[in-house]
Amino acid sequence: MNDFSKDHFIKDLSNIIGEKNIITTEWGKLPFSKGWRYGEGKALAVAKPGTLFEIWQTIQICVNMDIIIIMQAANTGLTGGSTPFGDDYDRPILIINTRRIRNIHVLNEGKQIVSFAGSTLVGLEKKLAPYGREPHSVIGSSCIGASIVGGVCNNSGGALIKRGPAYTELALYAKIDTSGNLVLINDLGIELGDNPKEILYNLQNQNYNQGQIKYPDKLASDNEYEKRVRNIEADTPSRFNADRRRLHGASGCAGKVAVFAVRLDTYPIPKRNQVFYIGTNSPRVLTTIRRDILSHFKHLPTSGEYLHRDCYDAAKKYSKDTFIVIDKLGADYIPKLFEFKRIVDLIADKVKILPDQFSDRLMQFLTKITFNHLPRRMEDYRDKYEHHWIIETSDEGIEEAKEYFDNFFQKNEGDFFECNEKEAKKAILHRFVAASALGRYHSVHKKDIGSMLSLDIAFPRNELDWFENLPEEIDSSFEMKLYYGHLFCHVLHHNYIVKKGLNGDELMRKLLKYYDSIGAEYPAEHNVGHEYFAKPALSSFYKDLDPTNSFNPGIGKTSKKKFWS
Ligand SMILES: Cc1cc2nc3c(=O)[nH]c(=O)nc-3n(C[C@H](O)[C@H](O)[C@H](O)COP(=O)(O)OP(=O)(O)OC[C@H]3O[C@@H](n4cnc5c(N)ncnc54)[C@H](O)[C@@H]3O)c2cc1C
Repeated sequence: MNDFSKDHFIKDLSNIIGEKNIITTEWGKLPFSKGWRYGEGKALAVAKPGTLFEIWQTIQICVNMDIIIIMQAANTGLTGGSTPFGDDYDRPILIINTRRIRNIHVLNEGKQIVSFAGSTLVGLEKKLAPYGREPHSVIGSSCIGASIVGGVCNNSGGALIKRGPAYTELALYAKIDTSGNLVLINDLGIELGDNPKEILYNLQNQNYNQGQIKYPDKLASDNEYEKRVRNIEADTPSRFNADRRRLHGASGCAGKVAVFAVRLDTYPIPKRNQVFYIGTNSPRVLTTIRRDILSHFKHLPTSGEYLHRDCYDAAKKYSKDTFIVIDKLGADYIPKLFEFKRIVDLIADKVKILPDQFSDRLMQFLTKITFNHLPRRMEDYRDKYEHHWIIETSDEGIEEAKEYFDNFFQKNEGDFFECNEKEAKKAILHRFVAASALGRYHSVHKKDIGSMLSLDIAFPRNELDWFENLPEEIDSSFEMKLYYGHLFCHVLHHNYIVKKGLNGDELMRKLLKYYDSIGAEYPAEHNVGHEYFAKPALSSFYKDLDPTNSFNPGIGKTSKKKFWS
């Protein structure tokens, strides 16, 4: 694109969303053009529209000027799917960040909600509390400000056993049809008008009444998941990104359309919660517990988060700052932490004597001089046990679980304790910040190590050997292996640091070949981004949604070219 067209484009854009909501400087674009853990690329600009209709108008200019659109919310996706990737696109790119558009409408006494594109899970949790209800996902990436719509677009798993992937068939979104026309699809189940301007204005201003809200025979959550996850004899995974059952319009779209709003079910907040912390040195002990609970319990636990000892240690050291910020200041502070990091890096870039990745090194240094943030009983279990499982139960499920664990550990290796409120909060947070440990370790030790690999795997529900046992030839290629995941759902995250000088791509191929041979699926919940190949079910879904390949091209290692050529 020449300078004249670029100026023309930015001018048109400022007339719609205002100059201050367009970012064109390289350092200003960085938080939006670089992924949380993976991927980075160039964009012409970042646009931050303030209303639904501004999104529509912004996309319309991109369509007119043949500019690629990458829709983005909180940019916490882990596989690079929320940012550009590389510099081999055939058209310029505009990133549309939706975080300014955060309205949430409560329907049917809180049983359902309509979330706009930038609303967060944390915001929804607060909004629903007076109704005694909560969102699909209350832990995990919620802690770091993830959006509701980003979760639906990624089919994010959440960690809650009974709820399955974020899913809805009720959404309002725009797509570009085969002839290159922008069209608005209102599948929200609310009568909002006849043309895009009217529909988007009416939704923005909540200009609809009870009579206009319809209850069509469509899902607003994966309401069959509990039955599915309980089926421990099935030789297929309970959930994964390329699962055709859960690809529908906005759900699983990975930015191949522009989603304005989604309508979702909510869930009652339990009256009582109890977290059990389990330790063992045998993965088989956890296999037995998983199978017993899923097949025999009357009340399933709320969540069950696994953590290997090495991952426990890495998170304790390399995710400590994230833990402390969330624990002491709240998740809302995380974007500010990243803004601070960005400014520090910008200054370091100009001051030549400061090292590469200065902000990470500085944060790492600061964490060294702070107190131990983990509870004593967890630390004792860390010394005694290799495998840790944090199981949260609620209401009648608490007594059922307590009785089971009391009996079970009389006869089996390992032990458990009942967390008090503080321990429960810290155990869960420790598990969720573990996702950042790999990136920090890599930044701090970059010079001495090879690449990072991460595998997001969904094991068949009947798999007994879920704990990885690699052949020596592969195992010896890794500097570090970090394992954690949602064990009841059999969704495990394996993060590796390859030894310096070894070929990471080759190792990844070997790992994936092994996982193919046991019937596992990948990615399970982080979506393909630019890290994984989209399997045929997924790539054909993308082609149907976006025939001109103008939204987020290249996702799932597909073609980046116009019309998929
Ligand atoms: C510490 C940490 C813990 C995590 N834990 C979990 C976990 O437990 N389970 C899990 O599944 N994931 C987890 N994740 C991954 C990630 O947070 C989720 O994928 C999250 O749902 C993404 O939300 P977001 O708002 O950041 O979306 P983004 O990252 O901004 O976007 C995600 C995808 O949605 C698309 N998108 C965003 N907005 C729109 C829109 N308006 N229209 C069309 N497409 C759009 C983007 O193009 C992109 O492809 C974790 C990540 C981190 C960093």
